[in-house]
Amino acid sequence: MQSIPKILILGGGYGGFKVATYLQKHLPYSKANITLISKHDYHYQTTLLHKVAAGTYSARKARIFFRKILDSKKIFFIKDTIIKIDPENQRVFGKNNCYSYDYLVIALGFSQNTYDIKGVDKFCYSLSSLNSAIRLRNNIETRFKDFDGDPLDLHFVVCGSGFTGIEFAAELATQVNELCAICGIDKSLVKIICISRGEHILPMFKTKDANKARRKLDKLSIEFVKGDVIECKKDSILVQLPTEIKEIKANNIIWCAGVKGSKVIEDSTCFESKNSRILVDEFLAVPKYKNVFVAGDCGISQKRNILNAPTAQLANQMGEYIAKNLIKILSNQSLDEPFVFKHRGTVCSIGHTDGVGVVFKISISGELAAFLKNFIENKWIFDIGGIWNVFKKGQFRFRSSN
Ligand SMILES: Cc1cc2nc3c(=O)[nH]c(=O)nc-3n(C[C@H](O)[C@H](O)[C@H](O)COP(=O)(O)OP(=O)(O)OC[C@H]3O[C@@H](n4cnc5c(N)ncnc54)[C@H](O)[C@@H]3O)c2cc1C
Repeated sequence: MQSIPKILILGGGYGGFKVATYLQKHLPYSKANITLISKHDYHYQTTLLHKVAAGTYSARKARIFFRKILDSKKIFFIKDTIIKIDPENQRVFGKNNCYSYDYLVIALGFSQNTYDIKGVDKFCYSLSSLNSAIRLRNNIETRFKDFDGDPLDLHFVVCGSGFTGIEFAAELATQVNELCAICGIDKSLVKIICISRGEHILPMFKTKDANKARRKLDKLSIEFVKGDVIECKKDSILVQLPTEIKEIKANNIIWCAGVKGSKVIEDSTCFESKNSRILVDEFLAVPKYKNVFVAGDCGISQKRNILNAPTAQLANQMGEYIAKNLIKILSNQSLDEPFVFKHRGTVCSIGHTDGVGVVFKISISGELAAFLKNFIENKWIFDIGGIWNVFKKGQFRFRSSN
C-alpha cells in the first residue's frame, strides 16, 4: 500500500501560513499529511510590528492563533523552534524533535542584519518579531511613565530609513502628543532622529514620492542625519559623516537598517545561499533538492521576473504559488508555469491616518494611502481567516485597541 506523502511547512508567517491555509481549502485531506511548525502558536502580521512597538496596536489583537484558523483534521500544528535542516536525509531538527518529510516548504522569514556593527546586538531594540516589538513598546512606556528628568530617556534614534524605520518613526511621532499629555511631559523634550544612509529615504520609491514622505515626516518634527552608523553604545551612537564622526546621544536606539534570511539557513550548510537567503529556481524549488520549496524572505532568485526585495506581498504570492504546485505534484501533473511576481504596489504608512505609496503605478498619499494600507492588511486577514477575523483583528480608520 502506498503511504500518504508528508508535507512539512516551516514558519507560520506570510509565506508559510499562506501555503497552509491554501492547502487546507484546496487539497482533500486524504491526499497528504500536512504539518505546520512554527516558533509560536500564533501568526502575526510583521507589517504591523511598528504599531505594536509604538503602542498603537495591542499585542493581544496582533496574535492570530493557528488553532482558530487551521482545521486540525487537515493541518497538524506543532510549536517548535527549527534549528537545522538536513535535506540530504529529508529531516528537519527542532529544539524538541526531529521531523521527516517528503515535501518541505521553508518559510522562516528574516532576521535582523547588523552588518557586524559593534554594539547593535547588545544595545539596540529591533522590530524583527512580535516579542521584540513588545519589548520596545514596554521600554517606550517606561521611559514616558517613569520620566525623572533625564532628557536622553526621551531621545529615540531610529537607524535606517527604509520601510521599517520610517513607519516606526512616524507612528511614534504621532503618539508623542498623547504620551506627553498622559505623563505630564513637555513635548519639546522628545526627539526622534532617523539615520539615513542614502541620498533619499524609502529607497523603494521614486524621488518624488520619497520627498513627499520626507515633507510629512518634517511636519512631525522627525530629524534626519545622513551617514553610516559605525557603533552603537548604551546611550549614544556614532555616525560617520563625510568629514567627521558625529556622536548622537540617546537612551533608545532602534535598529531598522536591514534584514537577511533566517539564521537556520546559515546553519544548514547544504543550501546555496546569499545573505542567508536560499537560491531558488523558477519554480521556487531548491535546484539541488526538488522536493524543497522556499517562500518569503528566506528565498532569493536570480531570475529577473522575481522581485527580490523582501515584502509581505511577495511572500504571500510565493506561498500561494507553492501550494498550487504541491497540489499539482500530488496529482502527478508536471510543473510548467514558472513563478512570476505581480507587483501591485507599495504603501508606507505615516501614522495611522496618513501615508505615501504607489498602487498600480499611480502615486497616492494622505488619507487615501492610509485607507489602502488598512485595506491591504485587512485583505490578508480576510484571505486567511474570513470576514469575522477582519472585524476582530482588522485595521480601521477609528481605532479601538490602543
Ligand atoms: C515593521 C515592518 C513593516 C513592514 N511593512 C511592510 C509593508 O508595508 N509591506 C510589505 O509588503 N512588507 C512589509 N514588511 C516586510 C514583510 O513583513 C516581510 O517581508 C514578510 O513578513 C515576509 O514574510 P515571511 O513569511 O517570509 O516571514 P514572516 O512573516 O516573518 O514569518 C516567519 C515565520 O517563521 C517563524 N519562525 C522564524 N524562525 C523560526 C524558527 N527558527 N523556528 C520556527 N519558526 C520560526 C516566525 O515566528 C514567523 O511565524 C515589513 C516588515 C517590518 C518588520
